[in-house]
Amino acid sequence: MGGFAWVTLATNDSYSLGALVLAHSLKQSATNHQLAVLVTPGVTKSMRVKLGSVFDVVQEVNILDSKDESNLRLLKRPELGVTFTKLHCWRLTQFEKCVFLDADTLVLKNCDELFERDEFSAAPDVGWPDCFNSGVFVYRPSVETYDKLVQFALEKGSFDGGDQGLLNLYFNDWAHKDISKHLPFIYNMCSTACYSYLPAFKQYGSNVKIVHFISSTKPWLQYFDTESRQVQPAGDMHHLKSVLQCWWDIFCSLIHPNLTSDMAGLAGA
Ligand code: UDP
Ligand code: MN
Repeated sequence: MGGFAWVTLATNDSYSLGALVLAHSLKQSATNHQLAVLVTPGVTKSMRVKLGSVFDVVQEVNILDSKDESNLRLLKRPELGVTFTKLHCWRLTQFEKCVFLDADTLVLKNCDELFERDEFSAAPDVGWPDCFNSGVFVYRPSVETYDKLVQFALEKGSFDGGDQGLLNLYFNDWAHKDISKHLPFIYNMCSTACYSYLPAFKQYGSNVKIVHFISSTKPWLQYFDTESRQVQPAGDMHHLKSVLQCWWDIFCSLIHPNLTSDMAGLAGA
């Protein structure tokens, strides 16, 4: 197949809502590239149908079904499951190059220029800027890299228990080797930055191309007033009201009308 793709991941139906909104935001940005989502058995059949209506590829990743050597080794460490699910993105070898996006990201402007970057490109993390944030990264699918990552993970583990700690240990020259692999922060503007450095957010916020709703501030968990059709963000998140409203506008116009009642209840308070 070849070509480039945006890739995300959902292990359940609520993160799938994030993936659906993300996919529509990519389409609205007029991307020229394909969309792929990795799903695990925790995503219901009806949700997969919805995902299939907007993603070009809906790929089930189920380590239990695979006879693959790396996966068999992973099976001996079930506690590492969620951390490792993201690694499956390296197995999408039908694509030449991909950009992984967490399901809690939203694309505000066309970012197709990201595909000019090489593996492994990512933006700094807000908590420790010599680490990259693993919510947005450019990579090259390869079964060999996948196998090496799994082997590395089994031997060394992850210093934070998640994929970010693991990937930062594996791609450990990111901080100092090649500045072209440092994505500008506007490609992964972590939501906490809007209050941890408010003046910078006010100065540069309008340049942001991808916003990342890290930690517990997921858009689908915000209070949404169905009368006024306005999101009412809690606390410091009010600085991000306009982008949260973008998320909800996509959800209300393009996704909610097609959801069954059990799925619709997953979002909003
Ligand atoms: N994820 C998922 N189900 C989960 C947790 C995480 O599908 O229960 C996926 C999803 O794509 C999510 C990514 O893994 O965006 C990373 O998790 P999260 O975004 O919650 O971490 P944070 O960015 O807040 O550190
Ligand atoms: Mn995230």
